[in-house]
Amino acid sequence: AKGDGRATYRFYETGMGDAVRDRRMLEHDLRHAVADEQLMLVYQPQEGVQHGSVVGFEALLRWTHPTRGAISPAIFIPIAEETGAILEIGTWVMRTACAEAATWKQPLTIAVNVSAVQIYHDDFVPMVHQILLETGLPPARLELEITETALIRDLNRALTALRRVKALGVRIAMDDFGTGYSSLSNLRAFPFDKIKIDGSFIKSVNSNGQAATIVRAVVGLGRGLGLPVLAEGVETEAELQFLHDEKCDEVQGYLLGRPAPIENFTHVTEGLPLP
Ligand code: C2E
Ligand code: CA
Ligand code: CA
Ligand code: CA
Repeated sequence: AKGDGRATYRFYETGMGDAVRDRRMLEHDLRHAVADEQLMLVYQPQEGVQHGSVVGFEALLRWTHPTRGAISPAIFIPIAEETGAILEIGTWVMRTACAEAATWKQPLTIAVNVSAVQIYHDDFVPMVHQILLETGLPPARLELEITETALIRDLNRALTALRRVKALGVRIAMDDFGTGYSSLSNLRAFPFDKIKIDGSFIKSVNSNGQAATIVRAVVGLGRGLGLPVLAEGVETEAELQFLHDEKCDEVQGYLLGRPAPIENFTHVTEGLPLP
C-alpha cells in the first residue's frame, strides 16, 4: 500500500510539472502570436428568427501555434488575460474585425468579444474610438459582447467604461446570459442593447422542461425590458422551431453556420444571391 502511494505521488508530481511547463510555454508563445501573425478571426452568422436572413457576424479568435497547431480560445484567452497579453490581442481583434466589416457592401453588425481586463484598462474607450475612426466603420455596426463575470470585479468602473463606449454609438450585448452571477440586477444597472442566452440552455429546450421554461422566461424578460434576445448554440431544427414559436429575436449556432473565414460568407457580406 505504501509503495502504491509513493508511485501515485510521483506520477502526480510529474503530471503537474508538465502542466506548469505547458502553461509557461503557452504564456511565452502568446506574446509573439500577434507579431508573428499566428492569429486569425473566423466569423459566425447571426440571423433574425422571423425573416431568416443574416443580421450580423460574431468574430471568434483562432490561434495556430507554430508547433502545436490549433489551440482553443477557451484555453488561451484565460492565459492571455492573466498575463496581460489580452490587451495587445484584444486590440488586434478589434482592429481586424472592424476593418473587415467596413469592407462589406451590406450594413451588417460585427460582434466582438471583449474581456474584463480590456474593459478595466484606461485605454479601452480611446482604443475603440481610434479604431472606428481609422476603419471608418459606423459605430452602430459594432457590438461588444461582454459577460457578466467581466463586470462584477468593479461595477462602478465597468459601468463608467460601458457608458463612455456607448456614447460613441457602439452597442453592447450581454454574453452567456444565465451562467454568471446576479444577472437580473446587472441587466438593470448596465446599458445593454441585447441579451445572448447561453447555448447550454438551448441544447436541452426540446428534452428538458426546465431549460424550455428558462428560455421562455428570458425571451419574456427581454421583451419587458425592450431588449432583443439572441439564442446561442442552436444546433437542430427542433431548437430553431421552438425559438421561432417563442418569438426569440435572433439565433446563432452550427445549424445556421459554423464559424469560418469570412470568404465563406461572401454572398452575405456582398448581398449576392445564394450560390
Ligand atoms: P463565446 O463568446 O460564448 O462564443 C461562442 C462559442 O460557441 C464559440 O466557441 C463558438 O465557436 C461556439 N459555438 C457556436 N455555435 C455553436 C453550436 O451550435 N454548438 C456548440 N457546441 N458551440 C457553438 P469558440 O470560438 O471556441 O470560443 C470560445 C470562447 O472563447 C468564446 O465563447 C469567448 O468567450 C472566447 N473568445 C473567442 N474569441 C474571442 C476574442 O476575440 N476575444 C475574447 N476576449 N474572447 C474570445
Ligand atoms: Ca460571444
Ligand atoms: Ca456566448
Ligand atoms: Ca461562452
